[in-house]
Amino acid sequence: MSFTLAIIGRPNVGKSTLFNRLVGQKLALVDDAPGVTRDRREGEGRLGDLSFTLIDTAGLDEGPKGSLTARMQEQTETAIELADALLFVIDARAGLTPNDRAFADFARRANKPVVLVANKSEGKHGEIGAMESYALGLGDPVQISAEHGEGMGELYDALRPLL
Ligand code: GDP
Ligand code: MG
Repeated sequence: MSFTLAIIGRPNVGKSTLFNRLVGQKLALVDDAPGVTRDRREGEGRLGDLSFTLIDTAGLDEGPKGSLTARMQEQTETAIELADALLFVIDARAGLTPNDRAFADFARRANKPVVLVANKSEGKHGEIGAMESYALGLGDPVQISAEHGEGMGELYDALRPLL
């Protein structure tokens, strides 16, 4: 059985973009509209000499006033159950939102290794969000840009000891 990593986090932080970068095929739908991915996607991910099964959790629509829908919670919980470790993704440009904190609670309760990923950190952007993310209690953020492929060496270093 291949080591399974689940990418979790609120809609629009770049989970599917990261999935596509690691799986190397456009298996997950990416769109500018938040919550466009409808289903859980799985693929074989690679990073350097590491290979793993990768799960992309669907965004689905945020509920009224940006609340978490029951379905979003279910999807995340299922992915967490299936996973050996979690990639918890935040949008470093947006900073932390209440939904980030709610997803972080799921991640913490899972009692599985969590790699905190501060996405959209290309250039000098994202420093503030990365600093804020220390407050989640999920360890040091790995600053990446899924879109531009930055920080993949740091992500490798964070994943290597887990696999
Ligand atoms: P998901 O809902 O978490 O799966 O997020 P998506 O992967 O669908 O991405 C949401 C939006 O963020 C899209 O417009 C992406 O192009 C954009 N995005 C993803 N990664 C990055 C990144 O590294 N930098 C920037 N600036 N935008 C990104
Ligand atoms: Mg998505």
